[in-house]
Amino acid sequence: MAEKSFKYVIVGGGVSAGYAAREFAKQGVNPGELAIISKEAVAPYERPALSKAYLFPEGAARLPGFHVCVGSGGERQLPEWYAEKGISLILSTEIVKADLASKTLVSAAGESFKYQTLVIATGSTVLKLSDFGVQGADSKNIFYLREIDDADQLVEALKAKKNGKAVIVGGGYIGLELSAVLRLNNIEVNMVYPEPWCMPRLFTEGIAAFYEGYYQNKGVNIIKGTVAVGFDTHPNGEVKEVKLKDGRVLEADIVVVGVGAKPLTTLFKGQVEEEKGGIKTDAFFKTSVPDVYAVGDVATFPLKMYNEIRRVEHVDHSRKSAEQAVKAIFASEQGKSVDEYDYLPYFYSRAFDLSWQFYGDNVGETVLFGDADPNSATHKFGQYWIKDGKIVGAFLESGSPEENKAIAKVAKVQPPATLDQLAQEGISFASKI
Ligand code: FAD
Repeated sequence: MAEKSFKYVIVGGGVSAGYAAREFAKQGVNPGELAIISKEAVAPYERPALSKAYLFPEGAARLPGFHVCVGSGGERQLPEWYAEKGISLILSTEIVKADLASKTLVSAAGESFKYQTLVIATGSTVLKLSDFGVQGADSKNIFYLREIDDADQLVEALKAKKNGKAVIVGGGYIGLELSAVLRLNNIEVNMVYPEPWCMPRLFTEGIAAFYEGYYQNKGVNIIKGTVAVGFDTHPNGEVKEVKLKDGRVLEADIVVVGVGAKPLTTLFKGQVEEEKGGIKTDAFFKTSVPDVYAVGDVATFPLKMYNEIRRVEHVDHSRKSAEQAVKAIFASEQGKSVDEYDYLPYFYSRAFDLSWQFYGDNVGETVLFGDADPNSATHKFGQYWIKDGKIVGAFLESGSPEENKAIAKVAKVQPPATLDQLAQEGISFASKI
């Protein structure tokens, strides 16, 4: 088989690959020097769209509408954009072997790719119920959502099961966004999760109470404190019922499972240092192996603000880490340096007519402010996290662009404050910083 050789190779063609390509172009990469090798059949796109506008019953987002970098207000990188820049987009190509010592990647079809500098951007893959041995978990119409092919299959099922019944397994990002969008499709929705409230990794009980109430008002039936332990099927192999650990049985035409993800690092196991489940990098996303960088979901990097090393599975970090790595690659070639990555964690979600943002760290004591009544028309509320007398994190539902900027600033500046003061002042405290 032929061997292709590039100065730079990005393995993985998701969000960080797309933003890395933009930075390569900005830095003046020469035609023919850069290749992106991706398992997916399409150019990098804004993955968060898949659990939101892609599934709308009307006016759904479709490619090429959400190729990167539209998510951050940048130029839309269509396949032609890569062609114009002389960047090779090698699609539908899964890398099955990586030999970092000889700087060679091998695809499932047996093609070899050589590189001088490698950027690992393989992202995450979903955890499957079949991985935990759940009986019947491979029945038809049980879906996971990571790539556009998964979303297309779900869209087909929604057409085939009009006004049907769905069970959403998991109460995190995917569970909350999918429950909402399936209700918009007029599907009857049961949502099941074992924790005492939804999104427990970020939400406090007070925040979650609002979303749970709001979702229930929209017709989502929430079942907490139990898990799916098995599935019954129709004779044609399609899912029929979900069996819960507490003995309940739920009818289902469609099941969507969102129980977490794991970073795709297996290709590099034993060849590169790992930590906290990801590939360990420095503040420039350089790994322990010379000329090998890791960005996005797979990178475990120093989070300077908190003097800790962490892995972050969110789109904002995938964009920024990609840009940082490419700037660092060019700087090091020119004998220069760039500033260390200094990331302020930022998460967001949108569902129904809700939209929240969170900045900073969710540790310490908390204070809820504003109108967190799920029955109210305004439902504008937020929460601060305080540690050692300083604000370290801030959450806001239904904020204006200025208010969202204000909570980002407050989480970055970490001003001193008391719980009483924040309870009284609410968002106006952040707005005056
Ligand atoms: P990815 O975007 O996942 O890209 C990885 C790419 O590598 C994929 O194209 C994959 O096919 C490819 N690949 C993997 N292995 C190989 C291989 N061996 N050979 C070739 N190619 C390979 N984050 C938020 O902050 N807000 C949100 O609202 C939000 N919504 C989301 C909704 C969904 C449905 C999903 C799945 C994620 C969402 N996220 C959200 C998370 C965010 O999308 C990810 O953090 C981000 O995409 C990570 O970027 P990445 O480049 O590291 O990985």
